[in-house]
Amino acid sequence: MAAQIIDGKALAADIKAQVRAGVQQLAAAGVRPCLAVLLVGDDPASAVYVAGKERDCAECGIQSRMLRLPADTTQQQLLGHLARLAADDEVHGILVQLPLPAQIDPQQVIAAIPPHKDVDGFTPANMGRLLTGQPCLVPCTPAGCLAMLKSTGLSPAGRRAVVVGRSNIVGKPMAALLLANDATVTVCHSKTQGLAGLCAEAEILVAAVGRPGFITGDMVRPGAVVIDVGINRGQNGKLCGDVDFAPAAQKAGFITPVPGGVGLMTRAMLMQNTLRAAQMALEA
Ligand code: NDP
Repeated sequence: MAAQIIDGKALAADIKAQVRAGVQQLAAAGVRPCLAVLLVGDDPASAVYVAGKERDCAECGIQSRMLRLPADTTQQQLLGHLARLAADDEVHGILVQLPLPAQIDPQQVIAAIPPHKDVDGFTPANMGRLLTGQPCLVPCTPAGCLAMLKSTGLSPAGRRAVVVGRSNIVGKPMAALLLANDATVTVCHSKTQGLAGLCAEAEILVAAVGRPGFITGDMVRPGAVVIDVGINRGQNGKLCGDVDFAPAAQKAGFITPVPGGVGLMTRAMLMQNTLRAAQMALEA
């Protein structure tokens, strides 16, 4: 295998240790960061993610408030909970676990989170700030990807970067973040023509598609940094990414594994954003 593996576990542990230290500093000022997470319904994957967030908070010294709401919660009820959390000065971060049940419009719910408590970075206000180069809470997954990229020592400035996927939560903010870091960015999606050729030119390749093995070895430029955001179940039932790992690792310079990669960094970045939101509240 040619590529060096980017160790998400070790990087995430470093970030969480820094967050813990930041939390201790805030304690001296009498502030304990608090993250509120709203989970609607009983989607098993969401329940696992929320439990992970609860554990991360405990590890970092962050207080967590988990609101587990029934699947038939109405949009009005959910907005009512959000309004209460928005007005609560002891709550610094608010996160609504996605996906939401069909009766609830996620865009309206996200827009109801005050931008300074939007630790997922999904509100139109934070997205707009990211695009216009203003300080903001950056979406956790792209922030984690950028930290992994920077851990290689390679600067994105002037590099050709290809992001496969254009979702609001991964692809678009990832592209904005790479652009803000002076990369030359191409965004690919399901209507892109010549996708394989574009990927094969990328010095930085970020895959956020949601299809196992979508990025094949011949789509990887020799020496490229390959960041695999995908979390899928392979045919064998095991977790896997969007990148066909073994052949891609033969060609890449650096590559992230699944599991043990971007997923852990996303969780660590949520803790970092929660600390940041608490620090901002103190400064306000
Ligand atoms: P979405 O389904 O919202 O977006 C997928 C994107 O991939 C879309 O932009 C879509 O294009 C594009 N796409 C789908 N099929 C093709 C194709 N054949 N060719 C080219 N592009 C294609 O997914 P998410 O962005 O939410 O998530 C992507 C993956 O990342 C999933 O596996 C998810 O589980 C994982 N994930 C991992 C996280 C982590 O922490 N590691 C966090 C969030 C997500 P179009 O827009 O044209 O439909």
